Amino acid sequence: MKCSDTILTSSSISPSHPRQTLVMSPCAACKILRRRCVEKCVLAPYFPPNDPVKFTTAHRVFGASNIIKFLQELPESQRADAVSTMVYEANARLRDPVYGCAGAICQLQKQVNELQEQLAKAKAEIVNMHCQQTNLMALIWMEMAQSSPISPSEQSLDNIMNFQDENNPEYLWEQPLWT
Ligand SMILES: [Zn+2]
Repeated sequence: MKCSDTILTSSSISPSHPRQTLVMSPCAACKILRRRCVEKCVLAPYFPPNDPVKFTTAHRVFGASNIIKFLQELPESQRADAVSTMVYEANARLRDPVYGCAGAICQLQKQVNELQEQLAKAKAEIVNMHCQQTNLMALIWMEMAQSSPISPSEQSLDNIMNFQDENNPEYLWEQPLWT
């Protein structure tokens, strides 16, 4: 067995030898492509030998030569992100061969639109409720003014408002106010 073929991942390290050091092994990409993993392999930092599925997925959609070309065109600081997005896009494309990532984006945009509609409806209902509450207060005030020989002061109106707000805040929201 060649040294380069030895894969020693964390899962394959026996518990009785926890301090065993990692033996140099080809990256997942080179192993799958059956090529020698050189010291400065452009794929090695992003496709560790213990996660072959990551490379297989990206390879199926983009092809190894394209992945290598993409990475070589990018500064090293951006390569990890590029690999993440390629793997994400490849997974989406395999799940949904027609729309890929765009399918997920469309779905989320639809959801955003629906939620915005719901929010607009809820806001309109709040405005409506406030109007009804104001009208109700005016009615109560007018009835009190008519039934009482002494016209109610500002203080008594405040009391009504406080009673509604503090003691029974949900009453107005649960009962039909205007019939
Ligand atoms: Zn490699």
